[in-house]
Amino acid sequence: MTEVVMRRQTHQVKVDHLCIGSEAPVVVQSMTNTDTADAVATAMQVKELSDAGSEMVRITVNTPEAASKVKEIRDRLNDMDCQVPLVGDFHFNGERLLKEFPDCARALAKYRINPGNVGKGVKGDEKFAYMIRTAAEYDKAVRIGVNWGSLDQVLAKRMMDANLSSSEPQSVAAVMKEALIVSALESAQKAIDLGLPENKIILSCKVSNVQDLIEVYSRLAARCMYPLHLGLTEAGMGSKGIVASTAALAILLQQGIGDTIRISLTPEPGSSRTQEVIVAQEILQTMGLRSFTPLVTACPGCGRTTSTVFQELARHIQAYLREKMPLWRSQYPGVERLNVAVMGCVVNGPGESKLADIGISLPGTGETPVAPVYIDGERQLTLKGDHIAEEFLALVEQYIEQNYGVHGKKRQHNIVIPIRTC
Ligand code: SF4
Repeated sequence: MTEVVMRRQTHQVKVDHLCIGSEAPVVVQSMTNTDTADAVATAMQVKELSDAGSEMVRITVNTPEAASKVKEIRDRLNDMDCQVPLVGDFHFNGERLLKEFPDCARALAKYRINPGNVGKGVKGDEKFAYMIRTAAEYDKAVRIGVNWGSLDQVLAKRMMDANLSSSEPQSVAAVMKEALIVSALESAQKAIDLGLPENKIILSCKVSNVQDLIEVYSRLAARCMYPLHLGLTEAGMGSKGIVASTAALAILLQQGIGDTIRISLTPEPGSSRTQEVIVAQEILQTMGLRSFTPLVTACPGCGRTTSTVFQELARHIQAYLREKMPLWRSQYPGVERLNVAVMGCVVNGPGESKLADIGISLPGTGETPVAPVYIDGERQLTLKGDHIAEEFLALVEQYIEQNYGVHGKKRQHNIVIPIRTC
C-alpha cells in the first residue's frame, strides 16, 4: 500500500509483542463490557474481540474480585492460543489492587491510569507513584488517560484561578481544554521523574465533542513525543456514534496523529461488542492506512434496479469475508487487500467490477438477466439463473485460493503488522 499519510514521529512503546508509535501501524483497541470478576465470560469476550481484529483489549479492574481474576483470564486466553495484550483500566483504587494482586499486575500488558481519578493531594501523589513504580518494576507500559468527564479538579481550579488573574483571560472552555493537555503532560513528566522510561508512556485526552477532540489532540501532538491513543469518548449509539468518531478520528489520522484507536460505541441492546472493532478497522482501511478484511464495493442502488439481489449479495459476501478472516489471515496472507465489487446495473457495474480484483455486475430492471463477472479487469464469464449468488461466492473463493494460496501471485509474506515491528 502506498504511504498516504506521513505519521507523526513519537517514541516507540512496546506492549508485549505490539509496537506502538511512529511508523508502526495504527493499533486497533477495544474494551470489554463483561464483569471482570467473571473470568470465563471476560475471557470469551476478549477472544471474540481479538478474533474480530482487536489488537489490544482493555478490561476494567475495579474491585478485588476483578483483580483476582485477571491472571485466570490471561491463562484462559493463552490456553485458547489468544495472545492479545490485556490492558487494565484502573480508577480510584488502582494502587491497592496492584499491591494486593501482584499476579494481576504481572498478567496485564499495560495499565491505564486516569490522573483525575487517582486521588487528591499527598495521598493521590502516593497512589500515582505506587502505580507508576509497579509499572516500571514489571516493565509495563502505561497509558495516562485524561478524560473530560473526570478531569483533575485541583489542576482545573489552579488553571481557572490563574486565568482569572490574567490580563487577557480566556474562555472557560479554552482553559478546560488546556487543562486536559496540561494534566496529561504533567502526569507523564511525573511518571518519568518516578522512574518510568518515556518509551513506556502513551497519552490520551478524550472528550465527547468532535471539534474539541480535534483541537485538543492537535495541540497535544505538537507538544510531546508520546504516542497518542485516540477516541471520542461517549461517542453514542448506532450511526451517530460511528459518524462522530469517524469525523474526529479521520481528521487527526490524516494529519499523522494517533497511534492507537478505539471507537467508544454504545452497543445496541443484544448486538455484538465486536462492532466497535469493525468500525475502527473500516476507518483505517477506507483511509488507506491499513488493511484488515477484503472490501466489498457496492453501489447504493437506484431506480434502475428494483431487485434486492445485489444488496443481499453484497451484504452476504461482506459478512462471509469477515467471518472467514480469522482463518484466512494465516492461510492466505495478503487476502485482506482483496477488493470485490457487487454492482446493481450496467451503468457503473462493468467499470467498478473491472477496477476490483473480482466483480459482478448484476442485471438492472429491464436488462438481460445475466451477470457478467470480471476478474483482474477482464470479463471472464457470465452467470445466469437462480444461483448467481452461490456461484459468484464460489468464484471468489476460487480466486482467493489461486491468488493468495501457497503458490498465489498475490500472496504476501512480509505484510507489516504491528506484532512484528518492534
Ligand atoms: S450501478 Fe446502476 S443500480 Fe447501482 S446506483 Fe449506479 S445506476 Fe443505480
